[in-house]
Order: sequence, then structure tokens, then C-alpha cells
Amino acid sequence: MTVHILGGGPAGLYTGLQLLKRGFEVKIYERKPDIGLSQHCTGIVSKRTIENYDLPQKLVLNRFKGVSLKISDNLIEVRTSIPKAYRIDRYLFEKELEYRVLNLGGDIILNYHDVSKIRSSSEYIVDATGSISYIKDVKSDFLPSLQLEFHATDSKLYDLFDDETVYLFFDKELNRDFFIWLVKYLDRYIIGSASLQNLHKILRNTLSNWGIRNYNIIARYYGFLIVGGPRRRFYSDRRDSVYVGDSAGQTKPSTGGGLYYISIASRILSKKFSEGELDYSTEFYKILGKEIALQKLARLIFLELDNKEFINLVEIMSRKELLNMLLLYGDMDYHATSMLNLIDKDILKYLFKHPRIISEGIKIISSIF
Ligand SMILES: Cc1cc2nc3c(=O)[nH]c(=O)nc-3n(C[C@H](O)[C@H](O)[C@H](O)COP(=O)(O)OP(=O)(O)OC[C@H]3O[C@@H](n4cnc5c(N)ncnc54)[C@H](O)[C@@H]3O)c2cc1C
Repeated sequence: MTVHILGGGPAGLYTGLQLLKRGFEVKIYERKPDIGLSQHCTGIVSKRTIENYDLPQKLVLNRFKGVSLKISDNLIEVRTSIPKAYRIDRYLFEKELEYRVLNLGGDIILNYHDVSKIRSSSEYIVDATGSISYIKDVKSDFLPSLQLEFHATDSKLYDLFDDETVYLFFDKELNRDFFIWLVKYLDRYIIGSASLQNLHKILRNTLSNWGIRNYNIIARYYGFLIVGGPRRRFYSDRRDSVYVGDSAGQTKPSTGGGLYYISIASRILSKKFSEGELDYSTEFYKILGKEIALQKLARLIFLELDNKEFINLVEIMSRKELLNMLLLYGDMDYHATSMLNLIDKDILKYLFKHPRIISEGIKIISSIF
């Protein structure tokens, strides 16, 4: 049986790999002239994600032992002795998956644009074409994103940022839709965010708030971050397709990270296919449903609070050492569940001042239990 996969990004390639291991024939159709050209992702992942994909160490660029959280003008920094997160080379990551697919006899067709031909001719079609497929159907719950990669021409940058820290800025006056992140690797820096507002201005102003005005932009990466959680069902009768990856909306609602969810979804999908079933939604939600629901709640809290309220909340959490505990011992892939375990009555009392957090929170919590 041949499975036709549209899209040669992480989801298409990793799903192809899993299906090949289960004895399917696999054809992957990528519209770009090469694999690895759709770069819109920072590549920050957990140790678990690296293990799930069984990635060689040479793909790891950063080993993060610290988080620096800047909320408006308040700075919280936490360091650990062992790395809590990693950044992988996204281009080499896709090249590694491509190599493995080809090695197992999979077929990758590049420069492919005639999708309608595949749709009318095949029984098993996997849509792994990324966020646009989700956006076309769902029409909400996404944000345009921009990442700037730059060289330091300002020596101040060397003093401010290091390779072992992830820098996160929360400032609702600068960007009401999402936080801003920055990572450094050797002499290169990446700053990114997602918003319905002017992203160039947001990133420029963030750097300028740090006193950084001289930098040499090497590349700009545009994309879409999905922040509303996955589709309810991953199989569509109407389209006769099975969705995986961003096309299924399989990203973390509070951070937009997708590589961990892809590593799980692709495996469940391939197991279901080998059992002759196309829909794998139930199994996916059994593993990740609770965490995704709690992340939606975390996102709602982010959207509802203004800068002052956010700082107050963080102060309550800091007084109780909760933020440190979260950053030191929390699980990056299940951070909302880690957070839930730390919430106490003072925090609940603070959050419940917001009617929407109460009403939506009750809906979300009752959908889990
Ligand atoms: C700004 C930003 C930062 C991110 N940072 C992180 C991070 O740090 N960590 C993390 O885990 N995740 C991160 N993500 C999420 C991650 O990038 C995605 O979840 C992941 O790339 C999804 O993989 P995919 O294969 O589903 O889609 P894509 O990576 O978008 O790949 C889709 C592929 O399909 C191809 N394609 C599209 N249409 C067609 C068509 N009609 N026919 C054939 N081919 C087609 C495209 O050319 C592309 O190669 C980030 C996302 C954004 C936007």
C-alpha cells in the first residue's frame, strides 16, 4: 500500500519514516526545490524530543541552562547545573530525516505543484503541508510570526546575552499577542515573536529597550504560529485527508512549539494506518489532551492580564519560590501541567478576579476531568 504525503517538512518526513518502518510504500511531495528550505522555527526542544527523534548530538547548537524572564522592567533569572532545553539546527534536522527516509526506500519528489493529481488518484493521503492548511480551514487561532537573525555590531550584545540562556520578554504594551524570545549562538542572534501588530516594530523596540541599536540583519524568517490548539479530528472525510503537524494544528498553544507533538502524532498515525484506520485523534488526545487544554488556559491568562497584573502575579509566584521551581523542575513539554501542580489559593484568588478566566477556566477544566 502506498501512502502519499503532501509536504516535506518535519511532519511529512517523520510520518513517512514511521510508515516505511511499518512496511508501507511512501511518496513525499514537496513543493520547494529542496528539503529544509522552509525555515520559520527557532528549533528549541526538550531532551525528550531529541530522544524521540533519536537525533545525533552534532545537530545540537545550544544547551540552555538558564532562563531570563523580563516582564516589562522586571527581570527574573534562573540557572541550573544541567541543560533544561536545547536548540537544534533546523536545516540539518530536516536533512537528517530526509536521509533516513531515502535510506529506507522512501520516495521524495521535489518541486511538486500538481497536488490535485495526487488527490484524485490515491487512497491514503496525508496532509503535512504546514500551517496554511490549518489556517484555511480554522480561520482563527494563529498569529503571523517573524524572526530576525543578526550579527552583533554592538559590543553591548556580548555582555547582555550568552549561548546558554533563553531570553523571554513579556511586555503587553510592546506586544499584546505573544511574548518575544531571543537566543544567541556564537556570533549570531535570533529574536522572534508573533503578533497581529507590526512585528518589525516590536522586535526593533525590544532591542532598543536593551539599548541595542547597531545590528546587522542576516535573514528574516516569516511564518505563522498556531496558538489555538489542534483540530478536533485529524481525519477529514470531505478532503479525504489525514492531517499531521502544523496542518493539524499540533503545536503547543502557549509557546507554538510543534516538534515534540509531531514526534508523537506521527507514531500514532502510522500505528493506526497499519491497523487499517485513518483517524488517530482519540489516541493523540489521550496522551496530550489534558496538557493542551491547560496550555489554552495559560494562553487565556496571558491575554487577559495587563502588564501590571502580570507583574503582580509573577511577584506572588516569586514570593513563594514557585517561579523558580517551575523553571528548575518543570517539564518543558508539559509546563502547563507542571504549573497546575504549583497553583495555590492565593494565585487562584488573584486569577479569579477576571470573569473570563473563571468562565473559560471552568469550561477547560471540566473538559479534562
Ligand atoms: C516563529 C516560529 C518559531 C517556532 N519555534 C519552534 C521551536 O523553537 N520549537 C518547536 O518545537 N517548534 C517551533 N515552531 C513550530 C514548528 O516550526 C512547526 O510545528 C513545524 O515546523 C511543523 O512542521 P510541519 O512539517 O507540520 O510544517 P512545515 O515545517 O511548515 O513544513 C511543511 C512543508 O510542506 C511544504 N508544502 C506546503 N504546501 C505544499 C503543497 N501544497 N504541496 C507540497 N508541499 C507543500 C512546505 O514547503 C514545507 O516544506 C515554531 C514556529 C514558528 C512559526
